[in-house]
Amino acid sequence: MRRKLEVGSWKLEVSKQWSVISRRRSLFIVHCSLFIVSLFISSCAPRTPVSIVITQRPAVTVKPVSTIVPLATLDPFNGSPTPSLVDLSSGSQPNINSSDPFRINFGTQTAVPTLAWRPPPVPVPLSVRPEDHFWFARPIASNAVNWPHPLYRYGSTYFGFMNAHTGVDLDSPMGTPVLAANSGTVVWVGYGLLGTKPVEKDPYGNAVVIKHEFGFNGQTIYTAYAHMSETNVWLNQPVKMGEQIGLVGSTGFSTGPHLHFEIRIGENKFLKTLNPELWLAPPTGWGVLAGRVLDKNGKYIPEVPIEVIDSKRLHYPIVTYSAQFVNNDPVYKENFVLSDLPEGVYKYQLKIGGEDYAGETEIRAGQTTFVVIQESVKQIARTANPAATLGRAPSATFTSTNTPLPTNTPTPTNTPRPTNTRTPTATKNP
Ligand SMILES: [Zn+2]
Repeated sequence: MRRKLEVGSWKLEVSKQWSVISRRRSLFIVHCSLFIVSLFISSCAPRTPVSIVITQRPAVTVKPVSTIVPLATLDPFNGSPTPSLVDLSSGSQPNINSSDPFRINFGTQTAVPTLAWRPPPVPVPLSVRPEDHFWFARPIASNAVNWPHPLYRYGSTYFGFMNAHTGVDLDSPMGTPVLAANSGTVVWVGYGLLGTKPVEKDPYGNAVVIKHEFGFNGQTIYTAYAHMSETNVWLNQPVKMGEQIGLVGSTGFSTGPHLHFEIRIGENKFLKTLNPELWLAPPTGWGVLAGRVLDKNGKYIPEVPIEVIDSKRLHYPIVTYSAQFVNNDPVYKENFVLSDLPEGVYKYQLKIGGEDYAGETEIRAGQTTFVVIQESVKQIARTANPAATLGRAPSATFTSTNTPLPTNTPTPTNTPRPTNTRTPTATKNP
């Protein structure tokens, strides 16, 4: 489902000596490697694990934007944006490398991110605000990698080499226990969840799907777990949150051990996924950034690189969703999500139509901060004070009156339990 990356060595190494020539040569090598690997992956079920070792990333340097962005008072769901955009076209401009759009070079050094540790997740369900729905625990315990692969998030095409990702990949070692993200009933267990190809070529490999005991806006919620080396549950078995349902493996369309995890809403189908990063409880004291990048007509702009920078100048790259079939969250209608951010103030910057846009926002523990960035609108929407939205229905699509949101316990639904028939409707690889 994705190529294996040795991201442990992926650090934003800082080097004043990094020359443009060496940077381009490295990029060329990396891109060539990616292309070669993609040839294997496009054959659908590589028999030999493929590894890409990115030993060093280009230097990333940053100079803070020259203008401090005032805190906006926008309620992104109910109000009009308050101008807070920094238009960099007439000031200190970042130098965005067109050959490597992930890197924006500003001039001074950055620290090296240390993303390999984070606090244990908060208990679920967690909904500090009505629009948040952190209702699922991590399907991997905190003693292993239990956060999404940063370069192949939901909706990502992995630099255009893959189909849009329908879930997140947790790079846990082979044999790591896979845990039920919340309580429910097993409605699928076995090899071949997608079911549109011969079983041995099914991209999901050994998979489990759990139908949960609660729903969202009247719709049933499912979680799917794929690529497992073995499964430890049986069909129709009730499971509790944290119960082991299998082991991390590399079965199906996978090139290395990891867990592919999906949130499905409404129906247990491939095309019914949502971004798990809006549903998995964040680490204690950490939060989530989500938003929309829109053109001047208010339409989503796909595959726009965004650089998110914390107060220590650590960079967190994210790319807006692909134009391929990707579902927006029913609450946020977002086209990018970046989870697992320590509480604090962050800057973000991107290019739209050749112009630089930048803003600043605050990540709060246990909450999703939402921003809107629109072309030609010299303002950036943000939730300066998440409490400002407390108690309000965030959008017209948020039909909270149909199914009350849970407070301490999830909300049950009356949706009939689906059968175990395969219901594939697409041929894309997850
Ligand atoms: Zn995956």
